[in-house]
Amino acid sequence: MNYKEFFPYFANSKTIYLDSGATSQKPKAVIDELDNYYLKNCASVHRSSFGDANVVTRGYENTRKLLGEFIGGATKEEIIFTKGATESLNLLATSFGFDIKTIIISSLEHHSNIVPWHMQGRTIGAGLEVVECGKNLEFDYEHLEELLKKNPKSLVSLTHISNAFGVMHDIKRISKIVHKYDSWLCVDGAQSLAHIKVDVKDLACDFFIISAHKTFGPTGLGAIYIKKELLEKMKPYQGGGASIASVSYEKSVFLPSPYKFEAGTPNIAAVLAFSKSLEFLQKISFSKIEKIENKLYAYLYKSLEKIEGIIMYNDANAFGARSFNIEGISHDDIGILLDKQQIAVRVGHHCCMPIMEKLGIKGTIRVSLSFYNDKDDIDKFIKALKKALSMLKG
Ligand code: PLP
Repeated sequence: MNYKEFFPYFANSKTIYLDSGATSQKPKAVIDELDNYYLKNCASVHRSSFGDANVVTRGYENTRKLLGEFIGGATKEEIIFTKGATESLNLLATSFGFDIKTIIISSLEHHSNIVPWHMQGRTIGAGLEVVECGKNLEFDYEHLEELLKKNPKSLVSLTHISNAFGVMHDIKRISKIVHKYDSWLCVDGAQSLAHIKVDVKDLACDFFIISAHKTFGPTGLGAIYIKKELLEKMKPYQGGGASIASVSYEKSVFLPSPYKFEAGTPNIAAVLAFSKSLEFLQKISFSKIEKIENKLYAYLYKSLEKIEGIIMYNDANAFGARSFNIEGISHDDIGILLDKQQIAVRVGHHCCMPIMEKLGIKGTIRVSLSFYNDKDDIDKFIKALKKALSMLKG
């Protein structure tokens, strides 16, 4: 099966696209739905009561329902739309994390799970702790337990799959440790939802972060799953229209979740179109997606291993990304020469500067594949990489 057929980008571009970790390509059904909204049903949600407004309100709430089911049966009030994983993490930081004494993160966090904590004046040892990782970038479970023993009632916020290295954290194991110490767990699923089956109940997390544009949906959209029990005690993150039951000059009374967290006019077209990504993924099934991607990453690893001077930072198990460097050659120079050959990879620190610093590097070359890639893409990439290396070494 050639899945590229479902993505118009591939018919319009000769680029070998290996940057799905930055943003995924969009299926035709998603693009059509965006068009549909602007061409046929352009109206606001949750406000007016005429025909098109009702159609889009129903569509908007239907995506919420679908997304809840997609992540393992979350209810509508537990799904809050945001403008991306970054905003979801900021909502968490402001509405929940602010009152928590200690925030514990992993060594592999994206800046969006570091900067919001700095903005609260937290630094290492002063409200923020970081779990160490081993030589293979593996999570140090004992260190987490040590930190939690000293700091019960903490918020542990960590990535499911590292965007920079493709390392997957064992969330079920982590969640057992976290809850033993009366703490809460937020899983940043920005890089996992497009690659593996997610079930928030099975993972036993309290929060789950979603990025639509990395999950074959439109840009400018994300979501956060918040476990029902926590919704009441969380304050709204922003205030404005659509989030309130009543307003006087004396006070504002907020609606229940999800509306109290969704002030202002949302990205309606993106929400409507995201339902098409979810339906598309459900049709293909994650068992198929995981099988395709596992094979591709194994093939990529084997092909890279043969390159002289290759440095990889973790073992053959990679999900959604594989990072490497070549001894003595700048990743930026390699990136430029790959681009000249129409190979799209990301080079740099991947918004993960602290782990780069720990590894003593400025950045890496990152290949991030999706199920629409194939062996031919990897062969073309390896050929272009060899050419770039021969030019840079020569
Ligand atoms: N978290 C991780 C692990 C990411 O990789 C990214 C983006 O690369 C984000 C959060 C931010 O996602 P968004 O672009 O949806 O704000």
